Amino acid sequence: MDISVVVPLYNEAESLPELSAWIELVMDRNNFSYEIIFVDDGSTDTSWQVIQQLAAGNPSIKGVSFRRNYGKSPALNTGFGMASGNVVITMDADLQDSPDEIPELYRMIMEDGYDLVSGWKKKRYDPLSKTIPTKLFNATARKVSGIKNLHDFNCGLKAYRLEVVKHIEVYGDMHRYIPYLAKNAGFGRIGEKVVQHQARKYGSTKFGLDRFVNGYLDLATLWFTGKFGAKPMHFFGLLGSLMFIVGFIAVAVVGFGKLYNMYAGNPYTLVTSSPYFYLSLTMMVMGTMLFLTGFLGELIVRNSPSRNHYEIKDKVES
Ligand code: UDP
Ligand code: MG
Repeated sequence: MDISVVVPLYNEAESLPELSAWIELVMDRNNFSYEIIFVDDGSTDTSWQVIQQLAAGNPSIKGVSFRRNYGKSPALNTGFGMASGNVVITMDADLQDSPDEIPELYRMIMEDGYDLVSGWKKKRYDPLSKTIPTKLFNATARKVSGIKNLHDFNCGLKAYRLEVVKHIEVYGDMHRYIPYLAKNAGFGRIGEKVVQHQARKYGSTKFGLDRFVNGYLDLATLWFTGKFGAKPMHFFGLLGSLMFIVGFIAVAVVGFGKLYNMYAGNPYTLVTSSPYFYLSLTMMVMGTMLFLTGFLGELIVRNSPSRNHYEIKDKVES
């Protein structure tokens, strides 16, 4: 099969018939063999009934329905598990992404050799309250992930080589950082294509402004797990040791300073009347805690079933 289109959706009943007809049209015109996988993320409207009807009229349409709303990432992950086309395309259900982009995305994966091609909504039809924070968000994501050529990490329209979606696990709200997940899994050929974007035709957005707070927290998590996931002591141990040493030196300076003044017959005060004494103590305590957190992290890693899991690219055996 050439293409699997994975569509996560939550309460998008009005858009679905139009979307699936449009995808079918593009596929037929280009002679692609394809499947459309609708993942109904616990919709409370008639989305699932609509999907069942669409599937009855076209054997290329598949669907799965969650019992409750889990989120876009779990929906994508489930769709990725079912996909079997050489190229997997993800697309939002709200008609903001255009199926007309599919042939070129397919070509970029198959011919240009990209592992992942992300859409870039260069001209967006979204409120300013969303576009401005999005710019900041993408700038941070570029910096932290080291994927310097992406302008729009969270674009719903993306294309992947089948291998890629089978080797990444999208969970929580990590759909915003799939390129980063792919890069961490060793799929580094990441490209971008400017795509058309429409204003939402039906329904309303499913994400509020909390997306930005959560987005930054998730970015911190990915940075940490990508860098130190297998060796937490390198993070906590370094930080803890530094803090402890600085605290220890500072406390020694306060203590010896007092002893010196005592013996030299200078006026002196109790060490407890110096604020530095308390700061140093706090630093030593925090340093110790960080160090112990490193040990705990190492114990957890030791028990993780994936601690020795590596993505193998190729093998020669004779
Ligand atoms: N979506 C989902 N589960 C959710 C929230 C959203 O499957 O819990 C789907 C939604 O139906 C749409 C896509 O994710 O197909 C993108 O959502 P939306 O258009 O609301 O996001 P925006 O375009 O505002 O970023
Ligand atoms: Mg949308």
